[in-house]
Amino acid sequence: LSLGLLTASRLRAARACQRLHYFEYEVGVRVLNEAETLRFGTLIHKGLEAWWKDDGSDRLGAALRALAECESDPFELVKAQELIRGYHLRWQYEPYKVLGVELEFVTELRNPTTGGVSRTWRLAGKLDVLVQHLVTKEVFVIEHKTTSEDITAGSEYWKRLRMDGQVSCYFLGGASLGWPIAGCIYDVIGKPALRPSQVPELDADGVKQVLDGSGQRVRTKDGKKWRETGDAAQGYTLKTRHETVEEFRERVVEAIASAPDRYYQRGEVVRLEAEMGEALFDIWQLGQQIREGQLAKRHPRNPDACVRYGRTCPYFDVCTGTASLEDETRFRRIPTIHPELQGATP
Ligand code: SF4
Repeated sequence: LSLGLLTASRLRAARACQRLHYFEYEVGVRVLNEAETLRFGTLIHKGLEAWWKDDGSDRLGAALRALAECESDPFELVKAQELIRGYHLRWQYEPYKVLGVELEFVTELRNPTTGGVSRTWRLAGKLDVLVQHLVTKEVFVIEHKTTSEDITAGSEYWKRLRMDGQVSCYFLGGASLGWPIAGCIYDVIGKPALRPSQVPELDADGVKQVLDGSGQRVRTKDGKKWRETGDAAQGYTLKTRHETVEEFRERVVEAIASAPDRYYQRGEVVRLEAEMGEALFDIWQLGQQIREGQLAKRHPRNPDACVRYGRTCPYFDVCTGTASLEDETRFRRIPTIHPELQGATP
């Protein structure tokens, strides 16, 4: 009998809501249209994977080529391209030797009290990057994150990350691959909060065009002289057009260059033995809860988790009885419940 796999994302789902966990990890359903933030995270992840996999001769080129192969909204792609360019400038000279990229692991889960090996679960996951510091020779897991939150030093984001049980999974995963892990480096990229906007449409002389209520230009050129022709009583509006992708790119570059600390942060999370023990206990206990739910065929809803970080859970309509998981326009069945692990069995 094959054991179930507990991954960091499965544990996160179970921690948030047992029903959510049931939908995604027991029924095997995923939302068809991923949230914009998730899609962007995937895009950046692809670029970073190529950046780290390159032998160092053309990291930026490799990352940009990987991005070019992704299907994406052109404005989102511009953000990803410029963030990766800035990432390269910021981190290209860090003294690390890459030991592996996207390394999958599956290891036994032990009861933190008795040391006994679980007969229900194994711990599994994927390490984004494993590196060795060129000077100290210490081995670190590098974990990529993208977020729209404030990531500057001392922000709530970092406080939360330091508590994240996921780190403990990486330590155990790294050890199972034969590397003693000195720490986990969270490599965080902030997403620029910029959106494509309207810009003034200039005339042949490069002048903005103000229109009155009837669509007539307020100031028109008569020979070399400008004269007012509009009717102020009708109210004035500025004639605008959609910003082009390259104009948007300029704004993104300017935003990143003017405050790089808002977009690139790395922080090391070390785990003390006591913290590791506590994190393991969390994982063990959660595994027990999931198993109990499976046996009882009960998966309690958690209404406190339906709206989190300003987003409504994608299964809200299912839980409230107004939609079905069978609705193919909204949900899809996945062939394996851990699509991120290619070598593992469900
Ligand atoms: S809508 Fe609420 S109860 Fe339903 S799965 Fe999502 S978080 Fe759980």
